[in-house]
Amino acid sequence: MDFYSTKTPSYKVDLKEAVIRSLPPDNGLYMPEQIPALSDEFWANWREYSFAELGFQIVNPLLGNDIPEADLRAIVEEAINFDAPLVKLTDTLSILELFQGPTLAFKDFGARFMARLMGYLTRGDDTMLTVLVATSGDTGGAVASAFHKVPGTRVVILYPKGKVSALQEKQLTTLGDNIHALEIDGTFDDCQRMVKAAFLNRELSEKLNLTSANSINISRLIPQSFYYFHAARQLPEGMLPTFVIPSGNFGNLTAGLLAQEMGLPIKHFVAATNVNDVVPNYLKTGDYQPRPSTATISNAMDVGAPSNFARMNEIYSGNWEHMRERIEGYAYDDATTRDAIKRTAESHDYQVCPHTAIGVLAAEEWATSHPEDHNVVLATAHPAKFLPTMEEELGAGATHIPERLACLSELPKEATLMQPDEQALQDWITNTL
Ligand SMILES: *Cc1c(COP(=O)(O)O)cnc(C)c1O
Repeated sequence: MDFYSTKTPSYKVDLKEAVIRSLPPDNGLYMPEQIPALSDEFWANWREYSFAELGFQIVNPLLGNDIPEADLRAIVEEAINFDAPLVKLTDTLSILELFQGPTLAFKDFGARFMARLMGYLTRGDDTMLTVLVATSGDTGGAVASAFHKVPGTRVVILYPKGKVSALQEKQLTTLGDNIHALEIDGTFDDCQRMVKAAFLNRELSEKLNLTSANSINISRLIPQSFYYFHAARQLPEGMLPTFVIPSGNFGNLTAGLLAQEMGLPIKHFVAATNVNDVVPNYLKTGDYQPRPSTATISNAMDVGAPSNFARMNEIYSGNWEHMRERIEGYAYDDATTRDAIKRTAESHDYQVCPHTAIGVLAAEEWATSHPEDHNVVLATAHPAKFLPTMEEELGAGATHIPERLACLSELPKEATLMQPDEQALQDWITNTL
């Protein structure tokens, strides 16, 4: 399968280039040249496969010409080694728990698949692959965990000192081995600037085989389509889901659109955002107005210029009417979100993180005009990752902390403190790696 740039459709690259380089030189986004429809044989068996086998059967028509079947199956099996159960709250509302992976957010799906695919595509290369990533929270933990001990790879994570939560910091700084954490005495923007400058240094970039684990990498999107199928098959046969997706950069929603293009029957999509409502506004007005982001309690969705919008546009050939026929958009502020956390715990005895709470709100709003739909809200993170907010709404000790998060607080942090200086990073890379 070749991949083309959304900005210059005639510009095409192979799988390795698209995955390792992440972005085309024209700053567009890579898209698969074709989205193959799944076979009759798939549809005869899709309800019976294990989750990993389901993933393999979905990805094989896309990448089967690039990767031999046994290797591709092994990559999917190693990546998708945890479940995504559908929890029914009412006859018309279910929650798809995407937070059962090692770092307790849906980003584990994309990061684990990408890490194994990158390891596979660069096997036999002379130079080790060095993944450079700046994080403001969730992404760094998922990427670190995903690449931990993957042969032929090492990861350098830059995070802003004092600006990530205590548990998030532990997720970045306690793995060791091929994972290096740099604590930058500055902001997230400083971290991003330093990473960019290192990439722009061609000599360094080529010598160290630098790559980015950015969320716009196409290989993070592909495995996220798997759980739309897995959710649909957990509903009674013949019941079509309406998917409600808490969104920031819109990668998760775009993966759902891919699933639909591959032939999965889906009733509707509902995009749910916090006050960073650029896409809901576009769906209402046809006017796309990106702007600087506003900070909220659902911080993983604080995005003012969603990068995957270019891919959504591509799927609908830039046709606003067509996009509107498939996707509804709603937005909510922090006070409403807090109220939803409390109400969901009270009425359903079920705790949702601030991002998922926005999905629950959107499902409720959609249900007022579509009472017959069965809404599936994607639960993007475990509530324990956002403990301060949960405690403010539900009281101290109300939220269960899973063992793999709780045990992190015992582990010693290992990070290198660094000034927010582009040269300091490049010197460190040259001298240390
Ligand atoms: C990244 C993230 C989101 C936003 O997902 P997109 O694919 O960027 O729309 C929502 N919730 C949580 C918890 C996240 O980590």
